[in-house]
Amino acid sequence: MQIRAIKVFPLTSERPTLKAGKPIHPSWWGYDQSLVRVDTDEGISGWGCAGTRWELTDAARKVLTPHLIGQDASQPDAVTEKLHQWTFWYGRGGTLTSYIGAINIALWDILGRSTGLSISRMFGGRFVESLKPYASMLFSWPLDEQTANLESGMEKKFRAFKLGWGTFGRVDRRRDEELVRSARKAIGDRNELMIDAGGSDVFWHGDLKWAIETSRMLKDYDVTWFEEALRADDIEGFKQLRALSPVPISTGEVLTRRQSFEPWIHARAVDILQPDLTICGGLSEGRRIWQAAYDRNIQVVMHGWNTAVGAAADLQLSASMPNGKYLEYWHPAPYVSGILKTPLLLDDDGMLPVPDLPGLGIEIDEQALKARAAGADSYA
Ligand SMILES: [Mg+2]
Repeated sequence: MQIRAIKVFPLTSERPTLKAGKPIHPSWWGYDQSLVRVDTDEGISGWGCAGTRWELTDAARKVLTPHLIGQDASQPDAVTEKLHQWTFWYGRGGTLTSYIGAINIALWDILGRSTGLSISRMFGGRFVESLKPYASMLFSWPLDEQTANLESGMEKKFRAFKLGWGTFGRVDRRRDEELVRSARKAIGDRNELMIDAGGSDVFWHGDLKWAIETSRMLKDYDVTWFEEALRADDIEGFKQLRALSPVPISTGEVLTRRQSFEPWIHARAVDILQPDLTICGGLSEGRRIWQAAYDRNIQVVMHGWNTAVGAAADLQLSASMPNGKYLEYWHPAPYVSGILKTPLLLDDDGMLPVPDLPGLGIEIDEQALKARAAGADSYA
């Protein structure tokens, strides 16, 4: 079964409009996603997702397509590891790694569809049949919109909520506590609350003292974890924070390649590691990272500001690991629930069943997908 073609699908409907001379907040650039479809000569296609702008994904496609056409589509690890090695000098860890990760996810999807097995089964089996999804959203101020967003999440049966970024850590301590107090009040004592400072934000200035004091405040609100409290590369800072914080510390969404995670795992720098499959290099890479973390008693929760393809990949990998527990679920989720023929829905206990269908276990609605490509001018 050979790779015959690769197509990139932009997701741009959530991209803010650019106006000349009025730059949007640069953090928005990180939220762009693009889907990739790999077609084979046997009529089976698989889907992958790259956590970057579609223009960059398409540039990677143009460079790498000659290396992919004719490759054996039933060998995800072998095909994509060769691509990682071949592109070593082209800027490893960036767009190319993200794109190769998308190809990797698509090839696992193809292998599953051709064998009739879900990816979690191909990874050796399923430790759980469902995961706890948490509705992932941004802090907002004034609080009305934030409260409404949390309430709509509860209506959709979520029992865990993560709030991040916004003005948290960016105004003063009083604001931080007001944001968290309000969220806890809105969701009640029985639902879980996670807090994400967003330390990979542009010029993030929250330092170790701020993070330690904030972690103590968060303990009062029974927070499940405190995410990205420091700048993304500050491994020494995270080690100290983890030692002093009364709540679990997490980070990892912007790290790429298994080699970048190794020092974090070796140093036990966090309680929870959060690789993003659409950034770190795909399912094969994510699986290696997770296994290494598990062996050192570090919890893993996949990061996903995400699409249906990314979420499905997270579900399959998480179910196949002995300590898989949570799933990040962007809420509201235009690129998750909006592009599937059968949406991923929570059960009455607030859990998300892991599909046990071939490959990723989802069917993409290509018409809905194309409708979300607004403004992608050279897209055909
Ligand atoms: Mg985050």
